Amino acid sequence: MELIEVSEGSARFLVPKAERIYDAPVFYNPVMALNRDISVLVARALEPKRVLDALSATGIRGIRYALESPAEEVWLNDISDEAYSLMKQNVALNFEGELYEEGDRSYLWGEKLIVINKGDANRLMAENFRYFDLVDLDPFGSPMEFLDTALRSVKRRGVLAVTATDTGVLCGAYARACVKNYLARPIRGELCHEAGLRILIGTVVRYSAKYDLGVEVLLAYYRDHYFRAFLRFKSGAKKAEKSLAQLGYLWQDEDGRFTYEKAFLPEKPKAFGPMWLGPLKDSEFMERLSKELETFKPAHKKTRSFVELLAGELDVPFHYDTHALARRNGLEVRKVSEVIERLEKLGYRASRTHFSPTAVKTDAPFEVVLDVLRGD
Ligand code: SAM
Repeated sequence: MELIEVSEGSARFLVPKAERIYDAPVFYNPVMALNRDISVLVARALEPKRVLDALSATGIRGIRYALESPAEEVWLNDISDEAYSLMKQNVALNFEGELYEEGDRSYLWGEKLIVINKGDANRLMAENFRYFDLVDLDPFGSPMEFLDTALRSVKRRGVLAVTATDTGVLCGAYARACVKNYLARPIRGELCHEAGLRILIGTVVRYSAKYDLGVEVLLAYYRDHYFRAFLRFKSGAKKAEKSLAQLGYLWQDEDGRFTYEKAFLPEKPKAFGPMWLGPLKDSEFMERLSKELETFKPAHKKTRSFVELLAGELDVPFHYDTHALARRNGLEVRKVSEVIERLEKLGYRASRTHFSPTAVKTDAPFEVVLDVLRGD
């Protein structure tokens, strides 16, 4: 494989030369630098000691955790031979010290311990029971096949960072696959991204409950056709039950009006879910993240503004897309900034949302939002 050297954050590393990213023998997507930036920021804010990058490819994510966060022990893993060989080269490029190899595993003891493993992520996680403070799952498509072992491998007060790139499934283009993989019914239309993210979290909550683990959402978002959630666990049956109580269902009418209800079973037909209806961020954690951002040099030019957008977003379930509402109700489109200003003047809370540049999050009732769109 022909390699070229690139850099991202504090790391310089080799990636395969390829016309298109999915043709490369080892995967590297520079657009995901924003995902990795936010992950590093999270690790800086939380200071986990042991971190697992379970699906590493080039190793860039784990290498950045080791270089840019206080983590003391970072494990990189991939099932592919080519990825393993590249991870070793990339670790050697970024850290001083000798690589010591034993079977399918290499170690580098320097200022930090870096472990590079070749193997199935499920096997590695199963073998390392309650070992990691932070487990990062960044798969092709759905993370579900790795979820159970990740929940066993993470410490009981640890954190799971999880990506899902199967947006077609979670957003309802392949509804049967969503039922099969996430045990939930997805919605199509303007709420699909937020509902997809909430289905992903809801499924993690349901899987976690049987281990007596409750889930706290530190931060979750949708961007560039992927979902990402940082979830902190809390140990205990009561904690698990409390998290389950945040699950429920969503309904939407033809005119765009939505309703949702926290319940174990849907009380009306045509429900979407089950899905997480709790917060998508923790305000105290967001303050720490924003503080970290002050001294952080992001690799992606949009990271800073995106984190600021997330921090400023009103954290209420679902949103109104001004374009979709206008189309559904035969109204003219209005500027989002105008809609927010009008709603605030009427005494409601309102903000932009990262889910769509044309949408608002607000605690105003549907009729009020429609009146504002009508210009009343
Ligand atoms: N985390 C990487 C990054 O930030 O650049 C990208 C990871 S890539 C999307 C997914 C990787 O998972 C691939 O390199 C693939 O070889 C690896 N993979 C797939 N199935 C696996 C398994 N069962 N165990 C370990 N690695 C696996």
